Amino acid sequence: MTDADAVPTTADFARRLAAVRGRIDDAARRVDRDPATVRLLPVSKTVPEAVLERAVAAGCRELGENKVQEAKRKHANMSHLDVDWSVIGHLQTNKAKDVAAFAAEFQALDSLRVAEALDRRLQALGRSLDVYVQVNTSGEESKYGLAPADLPEVLRALPAYSALRVRGLMTLAVFSEDTDRVRRCFRVLRDLRDHALDDDPDLIGDGHLSMGMSGDFEAAVEQGATCVRVGQAIFGARPTPDSYYWPN
Ligand SMILES: *Cc1c(COP(=O)(O)O)cnc(C)c1O
Repeated sequence: MTDADAVPTTADFARRLAAVRGRIDDAARRVDRDPATVRLLPVSKTVPEAVLERAVAAGCRELGENKVQEAKRKHANMSHLDVDWSVIGHLQTNKAKDVAAFAAEFQALDSLRVAEALDRRLQALGRSLDVYVQVNTSGEESKYGLAPADLPEVLRALPAYSALRVRGLMTLAVFSEDTDRVRRCFRVLRDLRDHALDDDPDLIGDGHLSMGMSGDFEAAVEQGATCVRVGQAIFGARPTPDSYYWPN
């Protein structure tokens, strides 16, 4: 047993990753889905580089970060390691240049302004970027993302930004003990994806669904998630309050 405050070892991370993976696989099988269709994206915000090196040694090949500054720093400091960085938090257009330079993926596209800024920077670098369009499925003021009603129009406009490859949709469910409300958010995203595919399959890439975090990823998998973003169940409880990432 390790002390709760001790820095996890590579073996600890291997165990935690396997445990989360096992829970994902079980959730998928409960609804007759192939577990291999669900990707686990470990979310490493607030975790220092020295600790992350152990997680990478345990098999993490991609890491998700909410804040661009932090992701940029870690990308630079860990460039000797084979890690793809996914930016999963709201982006301000003045940081588009940074994301265009280092990110392998951006999961929080929530406006055409950001699409335009990213595309311009990517074109200049001769790069392209996988993106997920973020939708606010809970209706909470504090959550970023498009209103569901605005999604079709944005999807129709995105092909103009040819450096962006739309892969699917992303959401954060309501933070609630009420699992029905949480599941409803996931179902809203899945229905939006299904409608988008009916409408025009070319506009939504593979129709991926990025939804589910440490507290709700099994429910998300049962509702169709193809990517779950899991931080605390792998890296331990965060010292920073969530309001830092999701202002009220
Ligand atoms: C932090 C974060 C997660 C992971 O949350 P955990 O509770 O640590 O699993 C998922 N998605 C986004 C957008 C995040 O910022």
